Parts: sequence; structure tokens; C-alpha cells
Amino acid sequence: MRLKIWGCRGSLPAPGPATAEYGGNTSCVEVMLGGEAALVLDAGTGIRALGLDLVRRGTRQIHLFLTHLHLDHLEGLRFFAPLWDEQVTLEVWGPRSPVLGLRDRILRAFSPPLFPLDFRDVPARVTSHDLPGEPWRAGGLRLFADLVLHPGPTVGFRLETGGSSLAYLPDHEPALAGIEGRSADWISAGALARGADVVLHDAQYLDAEYGARIGWGHSSVDAAVAFCAAVDARRLVLFHHEPERSDRGLELLEARARELTGPDRPPPVLAREGMVIDLS
Ligand SMILES: [Zn+2]
Ligand SMILES: [Zn+2]
Repeated sequence: MRLKIWGCRGSLPAPGPATAEYGGNTSCVEVMLGGEAALVLDAGTGIRALGLDLVRRGTRQIHLFLTHLHLDHLEGLRFFAPLWDEQVTLEVWGPRSPVLGLRDRILRAFSPPLFPLDFRDVPARVTSHDLPGEPWRAGGLRLFADLVLHPGPTVGFRLETGGSSLAYLPDHEPALAGIEGRSADWISAGALARGADVVLHDAQYLDAEYGARIGWGHSSVDAAVAFCAAVDARRLVLFHHEPERSDRGLELLEARARELTGPDRPPPVLAREGMVIDLS
């Protein structure tokens, strides 16, 4: 399994020279399957460049898995080039909401006054599905989605293939319910990340910043490291970078993560736009 990161900024795009190295686009990760179909996690602004690449590659079968519908995970979809090709099939999967169906929640962002065009005018064949509560298989992968601690219906994903496993938890505040001294069963997303080879995890704040932001749905770097240790995951990839944080600021955060990580685990790394992660 190989992944490519197209966007790893949290909350709001943050373009400019201070963020050029790690990137300013919001969450979007491609799971590179090597076949006809594409599998995409989240539709932040990073999906714009991915869409152009999929058009170049002639990929017309696309599965998009949304962790939730906060705008930083959805707003790139309006500028996703494959939508404008009638031969494209796009299947969108997202968390169930008791209030409104997934398609209607996406339509909100695709209609005036927020957007000039209507979703009904999109030529691609788009279908939407609620994520199943049980593991399922797609494109040679075993997938599992589970609700995690974050405001509103939000899931994380676990992907497995050929003995390797990945957890994708871009927006997650497990510290709210407790991490240390608990078994993985009693930690938010414990079932998703337990023993995973790689965990892409929210690390939006430094510990000193977190105190004023408890309950906002995001993690400190200290909590991200503690979470990985508690669920016995191997390699931490720091994700959902704070928009205010410059490239140099991110490197200080990475240094803090390495300081906190025990010698039995590989050193954590910062997610970066264009980064390819090989799990095989
Ligand atoms: Zn987010
Ligand atoms: Zn969010």
C-alpha cells in the first residue's frame, strides 16, 4: 500500500512562502492502488491538484471517503476536475448523520450563495453512501470506519492490505476522554489505530497552546505521541498542521514529537504535500 499526501494543513488553507515546504492545502490523501480506480481520503483543497492528475492519468472510477463534512475536508470537491467529465463515476462515502443525508450535506456547499453552480449540473455520475459500521473490502483493501472524538459526526479510517495497516485520523481529540493508563479499547479510535504500522494523526497544537483550545476537536503533539504509544502503533505522521504555523515552527513541533517518542519506535515525521508513504 502506498499513499500520497495532497494536503495536510488543518482548518484553513495557508498558502505563502512561510508554508511552502510542508504545504498550505487542506486534508487530502490518495491511496495508490495501481489499478483503474482511485481511492481518496477527504476532499480538502489538496484534491484540486489530485483531480488534475487523475484527468492526466485517465482515471474515471473514483471512491472518495470523507471523515466528516467540516469545510476544510470538503471545499476542494467543488474544484475537482473529474466532476466535469460525464464518463467519471464518483462514489462518495461519509459518516451518517441523524439530521440530514450525506448528499444533502454536500449540496449545502455546492449551492448559492456559497457556490455559483448547482450540484445537479455536475456531469459526472456521483452517488453518495453512508459508511458501513462493519469492515468492508474495496480495491484489494480491507477498510474500517469508526466514530472518533471530534465535534459533529466524524470518523477515522483503518486500511489494511498484505499485512500492513494504516490509520487515518486527521481530526481527533482523544485526550478529551483520556489516553494514558487506559487500554486501547477505552481510547477514542483505539480500534482503528491499534498496532497500525503508520498513523496519520492530528497534531495541530503545541502542548502550551492546547490548554486554551480544549474541546475544539484537535490534539496537541504530546497527545498524538501518547495516543500512538497507548495503542501500540509504530510510526506517527504528524498531520492537520495549524494554519498559523510556519515551516520552521512545524520543525520545532516535529522535534518535540521525537523527544517524546521512545527508542522502540521510529521517529515521528511531519506530513508534507507530495510525500509518498510506502507501507509494503
Ligand atoms: Zn479538519
Ligand atoms: Zn474537523
